[in-house]
Parts: sequence; C-alpha cells; structure tokens
Amino acid sequence: MAPFARLASLLNLGNTALSRRKVLSVLALLSPTHTTMELNLSLSGAARLDAGRLRKLAPWLSAESRDRLLRVLKDPSLRGRIPAAETGAVAASERMTVDELAIALLPVAQLFSEPPLSNFRVGAVLRGTSGNLYLGANIEVPGQMLGFSVHAEQAAVANAYMQGERGVACLAITVAPCGHCRQFLNELPNAPDLTLLVKGSGAIELRALLPQPFGPKDLGVTDRLFSGKRADLELLEGVSDELSLAALQAAAGSYAPYTKAYSGVAVLSSMKAVYTGAYLENAAFNPSLSPLQGALVSLVMGGEKPQAIAEAVLVDLENAPISQSSATRAVLDAFAPAARLRHVPARLKR
Ligand SMILES: [Zn+2]
Repeated sequence: MAPFARLASLLNLGNTALSRRKVLSVLALLSPTHTTMELNLSLSGAARLDAGRLRKLAPWLSAESRDRLLRVLKDPSLRGRIPAAETGAVAASERMTVDELAIALLPVAQLFSEPPLSNFRVGAVLRGTSGNLYLGANIEVPGQMLGFSVHAEQAAVANAYMQGERGVACLAITVAPCGHCRQFLNELPNAPDLTLLVKGSGAIELRALLPQPFGPKDLGVTDRLFSGKRADLELLEGVSDELSLAALQAAAGSYAPYTKAYSGVAVLSSMKAVYTGAYLENAAFNPSLSPLQGALVSLVMGGEKPQAIAEAVLVDLENAPISQSSATRAVLDAFAPAARLRHVPARLKR
C-alpha cells in the first residue's frame, strides 16, 4: 500500500483529502521518540507539560488549539478529563474527528506515566459516551510486587469511572493492550464491540483480541462496569471527617459483583487536594483494581506525584470475604511511608 493510502487507512479517513496537518499528526504518531522522551522524573505529569513540549508532541496543532488544550490539561481540577465541548472545538478547528484527536493526544497521556521500574511509558486516551476524553498512563510501584502496577488502559478507565462517566465508547492506546488489560476491559457492558485504536495499527474491536473470552456471565454475574449502581453504605463508628466520607462515597460506587467487598480509598495530598478511588473487580480476579490504585490514578492525573500522599483512609465492608488493608498499606509504604492510613469499616444500611 502506498504510504499516504496506508496513513489514510490508519486514520480511517476513507477518500477524504489528507491535509498537511493530518499527515504531520500521523507521522508524529509513528515516531518512536515518544516512548523515549527525556523527562524530568521529579516533576509531575502536568508539570512536564508546557507550551514548548506540546508544540513538539503535536506540531500540527494551531496556536489556538494548543492554548485551549493546555488550559484544560493543566487544570488540576479536571484530572486528565477534556470536556466534550473542548474536544469538539479542537477537533472541528483541526478538521479531525474526536477519535483522531484521541490518538494524537497519546504522547501527552504518556507524560503522566510513572514507570520507575520499566521506564516504559504507556499512554491511553479514552472517549466516554458523554464525548469527554480521559487520559490514562501506567503507574508502577517501586519495591513492591509487579502485580500492583496500574496499566494505562486501567488508568484511563478508572479516571473516567471516578469522574462519573457513564460508559466507554472508544480507547486509544500507544501499544496493543496486554492480556491483563484485554481481560480488564472485558468487564465493560459493550466489551465485544469496544473499539481500540492502537497507535500505528489502526482500529480493532476487543472481540478480535479476546476471541474466547472469560467474563462475568461465566460466573453468573449480570452486572457490568459503569452500570451506575451504588451500594447503600454507612460508616460503623460515627466517623464524619471529610476524608472518611470521601472514601465512603468511593466505596459506595465501587464495582464488586464477585465478592461484594465494596471498598474505597481517599487520599489527602501535600497540596491539600483529596483524590478518591473505587475498587473495580474483574471476573478473572487478578486484573481487579484496588481502591488505592484508583486513587493513585486520580492523583497522578491531578498533576501530583504519588509521593505527595500525606494521609489516606480506606473504607471497606465489615465481615467481607476479602480485605484491601494489607495491599493499601504496602502500596502506600512504597510511595509515602510516613503517610497515616486509617481503616474505617462500613456496613450495608438495613
Ligand atoms: Zn495492560
């Protein structure tokens, strides 16, 4: 296939004329420099992003679009969420679809990655059913078992989930998803039809990557991620501080159809920001995301380093068959050993 025709098929452009900007964007995507970019690792992902770097990563962006995206991406309150109105405006201005924009923003998502063990930066950009885009990046836990790693796809899903998104329409990724992530994504209600946009390979549906899936229905579960269901929980001890209540809310929104061990974590950063994570279970158990992993995603996307955690609260269900307590302490010790961890039990309201 001729190079331009191949580029057109990669971007699913059909017969539309290729603009110079689009060609530049695809060439930038195919460049290997994005996984080996030199970054100041002491800085947070948001601090690594400035106008100069965005110009390098996306040279085809107009100055207006660049300014618009920078404002959103560096806003800590948005935590890696690009609202639909912004994505629509940039996509229209750059004459591209929102999914093409998602692919083009993958190098930006990679800036948020925290891979102290592999130094391999994975970026993901998820398009929610609302039209919002959500960034995700891999987070590794130094000194602990590799199983505590958060993959970029999981991070993007957790980011969208914690920000109230109702579903996943499409997921762009810098590399093909590993088996663990294929399984993790199989928990979505639209799993077989989910479109994955793999950098350099074009679009593929999850069913093609997971042809003989094991999923919720094999365990007799009808629930799926993003159902919007909430557990009716209350704290046992009459605790009512802000961090415990935030963790309770996260626990109530957790997805635990296999163990019913609803749990949530809230962390307070040195910048006095509160980040929460809900427990997200998986039919195959191991790809499940612990509540602290979810909170770490929120914190990293909020522009802070995991070491910035000053305090954490874990809320989980009393008498549950599993506990997040030891995993939470282990991951917290790896990043912020001085951080205080409180474990507050909850129960289902009668
Ligand atoms: Zn993975």
